[in-house]
Amino acid sequence: MSSPACRACGSLHTSLRGTRRGRTLPTEFSFHDCADCGLLFVEPFAGFELYDDAYYRGKGPDPFVDYETEYRDWRATDRRLELADLHRLAGEHLRGDPGRGSVRWLDFGCGAGALLKFLRDRGDVAGRPLELAGHDVGSYANLLRDRDGFRILDLEQLAAEPPGTYDIVSMIEVIEHLPAPVAPLRAISRLLRPGGLLLLTTGNLDCPVARRQGLDFGYCVPEIHVSLFNPAALGRLYRAVGLEPRNLRYRDTVRFKALKNLRFRPGLRLAARALLSLPPVVRAIDGLYGVSAMPCAVKPATTP
Ligand SMILES: [Zn+2]
Repeated sequence: MSSPACRACGSLHTSLRGTRRGRTLPTEFSFHDCADCGLLFVEPFAGFELYDDAYYRGKGPDPFVDYETEYRDWRATDRRLELADLHRLAGEHLRGDPGRGSVRWLDFGCGAGALLKFLRDRGDVAGRPLELAGHDVGSYANLLRDRDGFRILDLEQLAAEPPGTYDIVSMIEVIEHLPAPVAPLRAISRLLRPGGLLLLTTGNLDCPVARRQGLDFGYCVPEIHVSLFNPAALGRLYRAVGLEPRNLRYRDTVRFKALKNLRFRPGLRLAARALLSLPPVVRAIDGLYGVSAMPCAVKPATTP
């Protein structure tokens, strides 16, 4: 049986790693490794129709999604930890940077808008005012534009933005949902100014837990997580679109991820919350899940 062409680099040097039944769909999905770029991709692509209102309430393939609460009040969710961490990382990057005036920040895949609302409430990063924009499609994107007054742009509108418009682009747990991840990253690379930062998070398929669990790794949800990366594959993709990989050290993002996975186990969460106040515990979890091992990226000062 021949393996399909890689959905990132087009290579035919792909091989079947295994199959797995969907979490909510009875389909048997296959996972393919690309020998050339390192992407692990899922066939068939189940389609974007899965992202309906039930999905956003956590009733779809991802039970940890809670867009309603995020949309209503980011302070009420553990995501506030991650949001503050991203703000800290952006601030640290900008402080080492000669830029002035307001910081233009695009949240690509802004979902229910928790990060946009957090940033609007903060009002500044590294002491500079913020100008915010978001990209997404669907009912929450419409609400964020029409009810909350955010600047929400579709792909066509983003393509019309001048090159180098943004100081910061965030792409938080988005790339794994995209069946063709190169074009969006190319668009983001064009939109980042020289020295600008891409804050990107996605699961690490080469972390110790994933290596032990194989396709049983919790991140392997084939209906929705269709493009899976490891640090080397992500770094290669960055370079292919003109970005330079940059490793950052997450802290509260790791705490958030640990608590999120205990959403339905309140007793354990209480204990976890206490343990997670200890930095060595956070570093150990970070090591096991390879969170900080997944690089972000910077747009080089001179484009190669
Ligand atoms: Zn490939």
